[in-house]
Amino acid sequence: MKNTANKVVLVGAGAVGTSFLYSAINQGIADEYVLIDAFVDAAEGNALDLADTAAVIPVPFTSIKAGNYQDCQDADVLVITAGRPRKPGESRLDMVADNAKIMKSIALEVKASGFKGISVIASNPVDVMTLVYQEVTGFDPHKVVGSGTTLDSARLRRLIGEKLEVAPVDVETFLIGEHGDSSVPVWSQATILGQPLSRYLESNKITQQELDETRNQAITMAHRIIELKRATFYGIGACLTRIVKAILDDERVTLMVGAKLSGEYQNNNLYIGVPAIISAQGWESIVQWDLTLEEQAQFNQSCATLNESIQKVRQVIK
Ligand code: NAD
Repeated sequence: MKNTANKVVLVGAGAVGTSFLYSAINQGIADEYVLIDAFVDAAEGNALDLADTAAVIPVPFTSIKAGNYQDCQDADVLVITAGRPRKPGESRLDMVADNAKIMKSIALEVKASGFKGISVIASNPVDVMTLVYQEVTGFDPHKVVGSGTTLDSARLRRLIGEKLEVAPVDVETFLIGEHGDSSVPVWSQATILGQPLSRYLESNKITQQELDETRNQAITMAHRIIELKRATFYGIGACLTRIVKAILDDERVTLMVGAKLSGEYQNNNLYIGVPAIISAQGWESIVQWDLTLEEQAQFNQSCATLNESIQKVRQVIK
């Protein structure tokens, strides 16, 4: 654990960004927070509102304020949640052109600031936006982390936990691949209360059909929440806190983040949700599971879906 002051800068003080900050502040993960937003009033208003927590939270921070890109210079972690929210009925990949332009402009500002820390990207479509940001900044790919399938996997763990009446923390089930409709459940690596999932299937505690239903529910959860209240933000806020805490505390924990593939899982040169070890260096390495042939084929399909969007983005950002 590092003892020096930790500084976190947020770019995009909207629903996702401020949910992340609210969660981070309540867990006391950093000392200083800075909010940057194209809409300056949003950054200032949210900084003041969040500052009001100082006297009543368990672990106080030293400062929270609205700022600008110069604040990135000595920051440890930068979290980017800027972009436009998803409209009802729209897929994450439909937002690609609009958000790629926003991400390019932010990446150029961050690069010019002299930032040397770890960047965590959540703006959608997150896998493509993480690649845009890393390519435009030219930062070491290990120091750029996408939120990947952290949220998707958290949803799956909760849903299976509810079905089996097991705490989600004891449900080790994962979605990898695109953060979105083509994400892939890795049943072959799943454990419940430390037991292989296959034992639960053999003893009929859960059926394959029920597992497939929970996978579909996890994948469509965002659509349902967006229909009901226009946006999703608390779940991703907590997931971003988990990732940033792992970085600041140099945890070396495995999370389902967006990491850049160089041959792992048979694919190359794209950010996508995979198990990766998170430390103060960003994502240190990708954990290589033995996927079944079916899981690998589904993962390849998810990569192909993302590669189509990456081609579109190349036109937008060149
Ligand atoms: P929001 O509209 O509430 O907030 C976005 C903020 O970004 C706004 O305050 C806006 O002013 C700001 N912004 C826009 N352009 C900017 C720029 N160039 N520089 C600085 N700030 C800028 O939207 P939201 O609900 O907070 O969603 C933010 C992003 O997070 C979206 O892309 C959304 O799809 C994504 N998201 C990701 C996940 C995930 O799992 N990765 C989950 C939910 C939402």
